[in-house]
Amino acid sequence: MAYAVIMPKAGMAMEEGTIMKWLKQEGDKVEAGEPLLEIHTDKVSMEVEAEAGGILLKILRQEGDVVPVTQTIAYIGETGEDISAAPAVPLKEKEYASKADKSDTFYDVIVIGGGPAGYVAAIKASQLGGRVALVEKDTVGGTCLNRGCIPTKAYLRNAELIDNLKTSADRGIILDTESLRIDMEKAVDYKNRVVSSLTTGVDGLLRSNNVRLYSGIGKISGEKQVTVNGDVVLDGGSIIVAGGSKAARISIPGIESPLVLTSDEALNLKKIPESLVIIGGGVIGIELATVFQAYGTQVTVVEIAGRILPGMDEEISETLSKVLSRKGIKLMTGVSLESVSELEGGLSLELQDHGALKASMALLSVGRVPDMEGFGNMKPESHRGRIKVNEYMETSIKGIYAPGDINGMKMLAHAAFKMGETAAENAMGNKAVFKSNNIPSCVYTIPEVASVGLTEAETKDRKDICIGKFPFSSNSRALAAGEYEGFVKVIADNKYGEILGVHIVGPGAAELINEAAVLMEMEITVHELSGTVHGHPTYSEAIMEAAADCLGRSIHLPGNS
Ligand SMILES: Cc1cc2nc3c(=O)[nH]c(=O)nc-3n(C[C@H](O)[C@H](O)[C@H](O)COP(=O)(O)OP(=O)(O)OC[C@H]3O[C@@H](n4cnc5c(N)ncnc54)[C@H](O)[C@@H]3O)c2cc1C
Repeated sequence: MAYAVIMPKAGMAMEEGTIMKWLKQEGDKVEAGEPLLEIHTDKVSMEVEAEAGGILLKILRQEGDVVPVTQTIAYIGETGEDISAAPAVPLKEKEYASKADKSDTFYDVIVIGGGPAGYVAAIKASQLGGRVALVEKDTVGGTCLNRGCIPTKAYLRNAELIDNLKTSADRGIILDTESLRIDMEKAVDYKNRVVSSLTTGVDGLLRSNNVRLYSGIGKISGEKQVTVNGDVVLDGGSIIVAGGSKAARISIPGIESPLVLTSDEALNLKKIPESLVIIGGGVIGIELATVFQAYGTQVTVVEIAGRILPGMDEEISETLSKVLSRKGIKLMTGVSLESVSELEGGLSLELQDHGALKASMALLSVGRVPDMEGFGNMKPESHRGRIKVNEYMETSIKGIYAPGDINGMKMLAHAAFKMGETAAENAMGNKAVFKSNNIPSCVYTIPEVASVGLTEAETKDRKDICIGKFPFSSNSRALAAGEYEGFVKVIADNKYGEILGVHIVGPGAAELINEAAVLMEMEITVHELSGTVHGHPTYSEAIMEAAADCLGRSIHLPGNS
């Protein structure tokens, strides 16, 4: 179905824009994300990208026209499509006529999996007017709520409290005791209460949106058909398989020992291990290293890559490594594990060229693999065990969508939310694309780490970039809080000042990065950012100062003379 291209609202104050140049002509093929036209506002000239692919069917407004924001300027669709019937607004706002009057078990959309991708897809499809079923084999909320984002954050808050108690004497807050005891039964119980309140909330949201919940294993059993527990058969217009992921395993002798845990079991330990070897220094491994070190466990991280958090900006992971090492976490990088054997009261982990490590337990955190069960015998195209999807979240089989961890594009809950929404829009006949740039990544260590956009290494071949940095040791809020480790790094393009990447290690990084992501999505330049006013004293002033440093104009950094 054709969709409307509108004059975008490219800034808070923008009311109209001038069409400078059409980069595509009527009849041209357009890919999603491809520049379609150039516009000029009172502030900037910019390119407008196509939100979805197709043929540029009709140009309604010509070069030189001044057009109010949100007014339709063109249509994109399939060749030969009749646009006289197309709405003069983006399709998202159109009413959907449900086809679900066929039978009690017919749904416009059937969703398999109730994690962040699946439950959001179900709610969105229902909001768009569809009759929706959701099949979940466990508890709604998926990995994120039950054994991922939320349980780890509950424990990381405990780690932060312990850290604060240990440093409070320096600030004149004296505890008249040397001892600190962790009651793991209580810690697990607290974490479970948080999880339960959130999963109950999701269950309520689904019900209040009239999503019909089926409890059991859902599998595609035919074209547009899903069977629950091999028994109840549901028919659907479209199917969304949001089966998520599970912990990856490696084939190493001895790895199947019950003393080698995954994050699922580690988050339910009722006794703190005396020592723990964490196999894998990625996000999950490093967050859990932070938790168990604070609980008093002797933690060693073994990482095969040359540094921990290998996907993050190098300088950021170096800074975090120093802090973690100083806290007593032993980091062994460039080291691989060869085998595991059980000993009296623990494990011996044999490393290649680095001898053996003894520990009470080990935690295997070497990544996640998609859970394909929901596809049943259906075999959509995949790559390295991950379902291939296009920007509409559609698999190689028409009408079957696969948002979230199952496609391996970005294994993050907030990416899964957006992918789920995108899949639902398309399943309901609209056109929406998932854009994978400007999605932040966060690591909730102490201090936190967060990143969006290109790293310094990814821009190393470009000569036209500037890098601005601002240390938290020069930020007044961070100094007052006593949390002044780390910095903000802004990477920008020299010519236009476009922000290409922001990397933060320091207090509140996981909150701060969202400001950077919004700025990048809105294409705000370093000139504009450094001209804004941020509340004082706040950590976020460091972002503004780092942008100003790109231009050599940071006020709170020493001058060159
Ligand atoms: C320890 C840990 C910490 C994490 N921390 C963060 C974090 O801080 N921030 C972040 O963004 N991400 C984090 N993640 C990643 C995040 O949890 C995932 O990216 C997110 O949950 C993916 O959502 P999803 O809906 O694709 O899959 P999932 O959350 O895995 O949900 C899939 C759901 O589908 C169900 N299911 C699967 N197959 C079937 C079937 N055949 N029938 C019925 N039901 C089925 C499963 O039971 C599950 O409920 C963390 C992950 C882990 C393991």
